Amino acid sequence: KRLVLIGPPGSGKGTQSPMIKNENCLCHLATGDLLRAAVAAKTPLGLEAKKAMDAGALVTDEIVVGLIEENIKKPECRTGFVLDGFPRTVVQAQKLDEMLSSKGQSIDRVLNFAVADQALVDRITGRWVHPASGRSYHEKFAPPRVAGVDDVTGEPLVKRKDDNAETLKSRLSAFHAQTAPVIDHYKQRVVNIKADKPQKEVAEQVRKALA
Ligand code: ADP
Ligand code: ADP
Ligand code: ADP
Repeated sequence: KRLVLIGPPGSGKGTQSPMIKNENCLCHLATGDLLRAAVAAKTPLGLEAKKAMDAGALVTDEIVVGLIEENIKKPECRTGFVLDGFPRTVVQAQKLDEMLSSKGQSIDRVLNFAVADQALVDRITGRWVHPASGRSYHEKFAPPRVAGVDDVTGEPLVKRKDDNAETLKSRLSAFHAQTAPVIDHYKQRVVNIKADKPQKEVAEQVRKALA
C-alpha cells in the first residue's frame, strides 16, 4: 500500500502511524521528523529549514521533495509506505505523482484527518515528544506511564519549539491555504477520518479505511 496522511497540526497523524505501519508492513516517512533531525544535526539543509519551521511556515518544496526522494528509495519502503505530513502543497503532490509514475506506481489512498481548529490548541500545547522515535504523548489525553519519560526507551520527553498557541496560528493558516488543496488533488482516493474522536475510535476508522 502507498498511503498519504493529511491533516492539520495535532490531528493525530503521528499517533496513528505506528499502527498503520505495523499492521500493513509499510515504512513510515514523516517529513517533520526528518526535518527536525536535520535541524538538530545542524546539516546545511537543517540550517536552511529551521527559520520557516520556527515561524510555523512551510519549508520550500525543493527541500522536502529532496528528503522524500532520498528516503523513499530505502529497502524498507519497497513494500509500500505511509507518508505523514507530505505532500503539503499541490506542487509537492505533483512531484510525488511524477516520482511514482516513473516506476509505474501511484498513491492508493489518502486519509484526511479532520479536526476543527479549536480542538487543536489543547492537542498541541499539551504534546510531549520523544525526538529519536517521533512518538508523541499528551499530558491529559495520552500521558506516558512516568511523566516526562518515553514508555519504550525511558529517555526524556521534550516540547517542540513550534508547539505554542502563537505559532499554531501560522501553522493552521499554512494548512488551510496550502495543504487543504492537496485533498482536492487526490479527491477520488480520499477517505475522511473523524479524527476528533478518542484514539481507539480513530484507529478503528483507519483500519476500516484500509481494509
Ligand atoms: P505537525 O505536527 O504540525 O503536523 P510536522 O512535524 O509535520 O508538524 O511539521 C513541522 C514543520 O516542519 C512544519 O510546520 C513545516 O515548517 C515543516 N514541514 C514538515 N513537512 C513539510 C512539508 N511537506 N512541506 C513543507 N514544510 C514541511
Ligand atoms: P500530528 O502528528 O497530526 O501533528 P500527533 O499524533 O502528534 O499529531 O497528536 C497531537 C497531540 O494530540 C499529541 O499530544 C497526541 O498524544 C494527542 N492525540 C493524538 N490523537 C488524539 C486523540 N484521538 N484524542 C486526543 N488526543 C490525541
Ligand atoms: P509534578 O509531576 O511534580 O506534579 P508537573 O506536573 O509540573 O509536576 O511535572 C513535572 C515535569 O514533568 C514538568 O515540568 C514536565 O516537564 C513533565 N511532565 C509533566 N506531565 C507530563 C506529561 N504528561 N508528559 C510528559 N512530561 C510531563
